[in-house]
Amino acid sequence: MSSSEQYSIEFLQGIHAMMIDIDGTLLRGNLALPGLVEFFNFLNAHNNQFQVASNNATKTLAAYQQKINAFGANLSIDNILTCSTVTALYVQEKYPGGKVYMIGQSGLEEALTQAGIQIITGMQGKVDAVVVGGDYSLTYEKLKFASLHIQQGAEFIGTNPDLLYPTDEGLVPECGMTLVALETATQVKPVIMGKPNHFMFELGMKKMGVQPYETAMLGDRLETDIQGGQNAGMKTILVETGVDNQETVISKGIQPDLVVCDMSELVAIWKELLR
Ligand SMILES: [Mg+2]
Repeated sequence: MSSSEQYSIEFLQGIHAMMIDIDGTLLRGNLALPGLVEFFNFLNAHNNQFQVASNNATKTLAAYQQKINAFGANLSIDNILTCSTVTALYVQEKYPGGKVYMIGQSGLEEALTQAGIQIITGMQGKVDAVVVGGDYSLTYEKLKFASLHIQQGAEFIGTNPDLLYPTDEGLVPECGMTLVALETATQVKPVIMGKPNHFMFELGMKKMGVQPYETAMLGDRLETDIQGGQNAGMKTILVETGVDNQETVISKGIQPDLVVCDMSELVAIWKELLR
C-alpha cells in the first residue's frame, strides 16, 4: 500500500501556492527525481504559484535555475529562493548599507552585494553583523575573524542550521557545523535564517502574495521542511525520495498532512481530485 492512501487529500483543493524543497525533493545530487517536469507542468496548468526554496546557501539563484531547467522544467529566477536571499534581505532591512564579515561562498556573496551590503576582509573596521553560510574553503583565519567580530558586538547570523550536506563522497560538514564552532567559542547564539525558522517561509509567501492557509510546503525532511511549514501555518506534504518517510513520521512524531512516494504520485492524486 502506498503511504498516501492513509491520508485525506481534500485539503489539496484549497491549495493555490507551494513552497518546494530542492535536494531530496526535486533533485538527488545531479539527478532529477521522478515526476519533476510533470509536477511543474501541473502547477503551471492550474495557475498554482510556487517558490523553489533551498536551505543551501552556497549556490547562486542562476546556478539552481540552470540545474533544474536542464531536466526540462522552465523556472524563472523569480521562482527560486535560497537562504542567501533571505539573509541578505534581513541584513538590508536591519542595517541598510551596512558592513558584514562573511564566511561563505559565491551564492551568499552575490546576494549580500546585490542588497548593497559591504563585505569586509579580516578586521578592517567594525561590522554590523557576521554572516555565516556553508564554506568549502573554511580556514582557521575565517573562524578567528568571525569570532573576534562577534565578541566585539556584531550580530551573529547563520544562513541555515544543517550540520551535514549529502555529496557523492558522503555527508560533509555544512553551515551548522561552523555555527556550532563559533557559538562554542563566543557563547553567542546565532539567528538562523533557513528552514525550519520563519524567515524563509514568510519571504516565500510575501513574494507570491499568498496566505499560509492556501499554501503547502513540499519537502523530504521532517525537522526542517515539515516542522517549519507547520510553524508558518501551511499545509505540509512529505515526499519519500530523500531523508524521511512514513516510518520516520511515526518514529519522529512529526505529522505532515500527506505523504507521497514521489512527485509523480502527488500529481496523480491531485489530478484525480480535480476531475
Ligand atoms: Mg531536502
